[in-house]
Amino acid sequence: MIIDCHCHAGKGDRMTAPWNTDAPIGPYLRRARAAGIGRTVIFAPFHSDYARANAEVARIVARAPDRLTGFAFVHADRDAGRILNMVGRAVQEWGFRGIKVHGRDAMPTREVCEVARAFGLPVLVDVIGQASVVDMLAPQYPDVDFIIPHLGSFSGDWRAHQQVVDQMARHANVYGDTSGVYRFDYLEMAVRQAGPEKLLFGSDGPWLHPAAELYKVKLLGLPAADERLVLGGNIARLMSRVQARPALRPSLARAAARPSERATVEKLIHGDPSLAPPSQADYQL
Ligand SMILES: [Zn+2]
Repeated sequence: MIIDCHCHAGKGDRMTAPWNTDAPIGPYLRRARAAGIGRTVIFAPFHSDYARANAEVARIVARAPDRLTGFAFVHADRDAGRILNMVGRAVQEWGFRGIKVHGRDAMPTREVCEVARAFGLPVLVDVIGQASVVDMLAPQYPDVDFIIPHLGSFSGDWRAHQQVVDQMARHANVYGDTSGVYRFDYLEMAVRQAGPEKLLFGSDGPWLHPAAELYKVKLLGLPAADERLVLGGNIARLMSRVQARPALRPSLARAAARPSERATVEKLIHGDPSLAPPSQADYQL
């Protein structure tokens, strides 16, 4: 199955640019179906309240659960102290499978990485050209998988691409996504240097056309087994490690929770027996 690991859905509230105004999923889904894309990872556009934006993404996923999987968007600074609750709700109630962080909001903090580790979630982090951050994150959290979209730069900064390809090769837990990368040679370099198991197909829909983005991967001309990894096998593997009952240390719960949210954290740690772990079956290729 072809899986698009990077698409936005729902409405933003700032309305100064497409990426904080509206990410309509309808046109994307029509284009994706025509392109043969079977499943898509979606997360919110930029928003001033990601708890609300994630709830909207959950409602969108619920309308097409056979085609959509959610990631929880968090603002590492603004949401400090409630990351655990936001992500916990997203995983346990909505079946979300990852975390999205955008460097323009704030780079991932320890709180974000600890929560990702506790739930076994990949973190898709846009480093906005500041690829050096990856060399801080990856060794500190070797058991957390980091997906770097646009090979480090949506604006085509070739220095960032070069650095991210090198990081994908050096760090076992660093992956890159293909979305928006127009300097094709860096996609080839990523496969050659880091291996096909480190590159993930993503479209950055609905603003970029998923078929056009998919065609770039086809143009790599990979052996069928390698192409299957890039087009879905890799993201399926990264999403299969999620655990609904988090492996939380009490120290994390104390550090991460605002006093007003303690009760929810207690429930997250000790578990709510009514919540079954999300099914793994959807992600088999
Ligand atoms: Zn994006």
